[in-house]
Amino acid sequence: PESILVPINSLIEQMLSFLDFERRQSRTAINLDLAPDVPSVWVDPLEIKQVMVNLIKNAFEAMSDLPPESRVIDISTSRQGDMVEVEASDRGPGVSKTKLTQIFNPFFTTKRNGMGLGLAVCRSIVESHGGRLTVSRNVHGGAAFSFTLPIREKSP
Ligand code: ADP
Ligand code: MG
Repeated sequence: PESILVPINSLIEQMLSFLDFERRQSRTAINLDLAPDVPSVWVDPLEIKQVMVNLIKNAFEAMSDLPPESRVIDISTSRQGDMVEVEASDRGPGVSKTKLTQIFNPFFTTKRNGMGLGLAVCRSIVESHGGRLTVSRNVHGGAAFSFTLPIREKSP
Protein backbone atom coordinates (compact mmCIF):
# COMPACT_ATOMS: atom_id res chain seq x y z
CA PRO A 1 0.00 0.00 0.00
CA GLU A 2 0.97 3.63 -0.68
CA SER A 3 1.20 4.77 2.93
CA ILE A 4 1.07 8.23 4.43
CA LEU A 5 0.80 9.31 8.07
CA VAL A 6 -2.86 10.07 8.80
CA PRO A 7 -4.99 10.89 11.84
CA ILE A 8 -7.46 8.00 11.91
CA ASN A 9 -10.23 10.05 13.58
CA SER A 10 -10.28 12.57 10.71
CA LEU A 11 -10.33 9.71 8.22
CA ILE A 12 -13.46 8.39 9.95
CA GLU A 13 -15.10 11.82 9.87
CA GLN A 14 -14.32 12.17 6.14
CA MET A 15 -15.74 8.73 5.46
CA LEU A 16 -18.92 9.56 7.39
CA SER A 17 -19.55 12.78 5.49
CA PHE A 18 -19.06 10.81 2.28
CA LEU A 19 -21.69 8.29 3.48
CA ASP A 20 -24.11 10.83 4.92
CA PHE A 21 -26.59 10.65 2.05
CA GLU A 22 -26.86 6.87 2.40
CA ARG A 23 -27.03 7.16 6.16
CA ARG A 24 -30.06 9.47 5.93
CA GLN A 25 -31.70 7.25 3.32
CA SER A 26 -31.26 4.24 5.55
CA ARG A 27 -32.51 6.31 8.52
CA THR A 28 -29.64 5.22 10.73
CA ALA A 29 -28.09 7.11 13.62
CA ILE A 30 -24.34 7.00 14.10
CA ASN A 31 -22.76 7.51 17.52
CA LEU A 32 -19.10 8.46 17.50
CA ASP A 33 -16.73 7.77 20.35
CA LEU A 34 -13.33 8.81 19.00
CA ALA A 35 -10.48 8.72 21.49
CA PRO A 36 -8.66 12.07 21.38
CA ASP A 37 -5.28 10.48 22.12
CA VAL A 38 -5.03 8.02 19.22
CA PRO A 39 -1.77 8.61 17.33
CA SER A 40 -1.66 8.95 13.55
CA VAL A 41 -1.00 5.79 11.58
CA TRP A 42 0.83 5.00 8.33
CA VAL A 43 -1.88 3.85 5.95
CA ASP A 44 -3.14 4.08 2.41
CA PRO A 45 -6.07 6.41 3.21
CA LEU A 46 -8.17 5.32 0.22
CA GLU A 47 -7.86 1.68 1.19
CA ILE A 48 -8.70 2.27 4.85
CA LYS A 49 -11.70 4.43 3.88
CA GLN A 50 -12.82 1.57 1.64
CA VAL A 51 -12.68 -0.79 4.62
CA MET A 52 -14.78 1.54 6.74
CA VAL A 53 -17.30 2.19 3.95
CA ASN A 54 -17.78 -1.56 3.47
CA LEU A 55 -18.34 -2.14 7.18
CA ILE A 56 -20.79 0.74 7.54
CA LYS A 57 -22.76 -0.25 4.42
CA ASN A 58 -23.04 -3.80 5.78
CA ALA A 59 -24.34 -2.35 9.05
CA PHE A 60 -26.99 -0.27 7.21
CA GLU A 61 -28.07 -3.41 5.36
CA ALA A 62 -28.11 -5.54 8.52
CA MET A 63 -30.58 -3.14 10.17
CA SER A 64 -32.90 -2.48 7.24
CA ASP A 65 -35.65 -4.65 8.74
CA LEU A 66 -35.60 -2.81 12.07
CA PRO A 67 -37.82 0.16 12.84
CA PRO A 68 -35.82 3.33 12.06
CA GLU A 69 -35.58 4.38 15.72
CA SER A 70 -33.65 1.15 16.44
CA ARG A 71 -31.07 1.63 13.71
CA VAL A 72 -27.89 2.68 15.46
CA ILE A 73 -24.21 2.23 14.67
CA ASP A 74 -21.58 2.92 17.31
CA ILE A 75 -18.15 3.78 15.95
CA SER A 76 -15.19 4.06 18.25
CA THR A 77 -11.44 4.40 18.13
CA SER A 78 -9.03 3.49 20.88
CA ARG A 79 -5.39 2.80 21.49
CA GLN A 80 -4.55 -0.82 22.35
CA GLY A 81 -0.85 -0.98 23.14
CA ASP A 82 1.06 -0.58 19.88
CA MET A 83 -2.12 -0.69 17.78
CA VAL A 84 -5.01 1.63 17.02
CA GLU A 85 -8.40 -0.11 17.05
CA VAL A 86 -11.46 0.98 15.10
CA GLU A 87 -14.78 -0.65 15.95
CA ALA A 88 -18.15 -0.44 14.17
CA SER A 89 -20.96 -2.03 16.12
CA ASP A 90 -24.60 -2.35 15.00
CA ARG A 91 -28.00 -3.41 16.39
CA GLY A 92 -28.83 -5.90 13.63
CA PRO A 93 -29.22 -9.69 14.01
CA GLY A 94 -25.47 -10.28 14.32
CA VAL A 95 -23.51 -13.12 12.74
CA SER A 96 -24.43 -16.66 13.77
CA LYS A 97 -21.71 -18.94 15.12
CA THR A 98 -21.63 -21.14 12.02
CA LYS A 99 -21.12 -18.11 9.77
CA LEU A 100 -18.41 -16.46 11.87
CA THR A 101 -15.54 -17.72 9.73
CA GLN A 102 -17.45 -18.02 6.43
CA ILE A 103 -18.35 -14.34 6.14
CA PHE A 104 -14.72 -13.49 5.33
CA ASN A 105 -14.58 -15.93 2.41
CA PRO A 106 -14.73 -14.35 -1.05
CA PHE A 107 -18.23 -14.67 -2.60
CA PHE A 108 -19.92 -15.69 0.67
CA THR A 109 -23.15 -13.72 0.88
CA THR A 110 -26.59 -14.11 2.43
CA LYS A 111 -28.02 -11.26 0.36
CA ARG A 112 -30.10 -11.67 -2.77
CA ASN A 113 -27.98 -9.19 -4.69
CA GLY A 114 -24.81 -9.55 -2.65
CA MET A 115 -21.38 -10.03 -4.16
CA GLY A 116 -19.83 -11.37 -1.00
CA LEU A 117 -16.56 -9.58 -1.63
CA GLY A 118 -16.74 -6.71 0.87
CA LEU A 119 -15.39 -8.46 3.95
CA ALA A 120 -12.81 -10.51 2.03
CA VAL A 121 -11.42 -7.27 0.57
CA CYS A 122 -11.58 -5.55 3.99
CA ARG A 123 -9.63 -8.33 5.62
CA SER A 124 -6.92 -8.40 2.95
CA ILE A 125 -6.52 -4.60 3.10
CA VAL A 126 -6.24 -4.62 6.89
CA GLU A 127 -3.78 -7.52 6.87
CA SER A 128 -1.65 -5.84 4.19
CA HIS A 129 -1.34 -2.95 6.68
CA GLY A 130 -0.17 -5.34 9.41
CA GLY A 131 -3.48 -5.32 11.29
CA ARG A 132 -6.36 -7.71 11.95
CA LEU A 133 -10.09 -7.61 11.19
CA THR A 134 -12.40 -9.55 13.51
CA VAL A 135 -16.09 -9.80 14.33
CA SER A 136 -17.85 -10.43 17.60
CA ARG A 137 -21.31 -10.12 19.09
CA ASN A 138 -22.12 -6.96 21.05
CA VAL A 139 -24.46 -6.55 24.06
CA HIS A 140 -27.38 -5.85 21.70
CA GLY A 141 -26.84 -9.14 19.84
CA GLY A 142 -25.60 -7.18 16.82
CA ALA A 143 -22.33 -7.48 14.95
CA ALA A 144 -19.23 -5.65 16.16
CA PHE A 145 -16.48 -5.49 13.53
CA SER A 146 -13.15 -4.21 14.66
CA PHE A 147 -9.83 -3.76 12.97
CA THR A 148 -6.40 -2.81 14.19
CA LEU A 149 -3.59 -0.83 12.60
CA PRO A 150 -0.04 -0.81 13.90
CA ILE A 151 1.42 2.41 15.31
CA ARG A 152 4.78 2.99 13.65
CA GLU A 153 7.21 5.88 13.97
CA LYS A 154 8.41 5.64 10.39
CA SER A 155 6.96 4.73 7.03
CA PRO A 156 6.88 0.90 6.65
P1 ADP B 1 -22.17 -8.77 0.85
O1 ADP B 1 -22.42 -7.51 1.63
O2 ADP B 1 -22.10 -8.54 -0.62
O3 ADP B 1 -23.10 -9.89 1.22
P2 ADP B 1 -19.81 -8.98 2.51
O4 ADP B 1 -18.50 -9.67 2.30
O5 ADP B 1 -19.76 -7.51 2.77
O6 ADP B 1 -20.68 -9.29 1.23
O7 ADP B 1 -20.57 -9.69 3.70
C1 ADP B 1 -20.71 -11.11 3.67
C2 ADP B 1 -21.84 -11.57 4.57
O8 ADP B 1 -21.49 -11.30 5.94
C3 ADP B 1 -23.15 -10.84 4.38
O9 ADP B 1 -23.89 -11.36 3.30
C4 ADP B 1 -23.84 -11.09 5.73
O10 ADP B 1 -24.37 -12.40 5.77
C5 ADP B 1 -22.66 -11.06 6.70
N1 ADP B 1 -22.53 -9.73 7.34
C6 ADP B 1 -21.68 -8.75 7.00
N2 ADP B 1 -21.83 -7.67 7.79
C7 ADP B 1 -22.79 -7.98 8.68
C8 ADP B 1 -23.43 -7.28 9.76
N3 ADP B 1 -23.05 -6.04 10.09
N4 ADP B 1 -24.39 -7.93 10.47
C9 ADP B 1 -24.75 -9.19 10.14
N5 ADP B 1 -24.21 -9.90 9.13
C10 ADP B 1 -23.25 -9.30 8.41
MG1 MG C 1 -20.99 -5.97 1.93
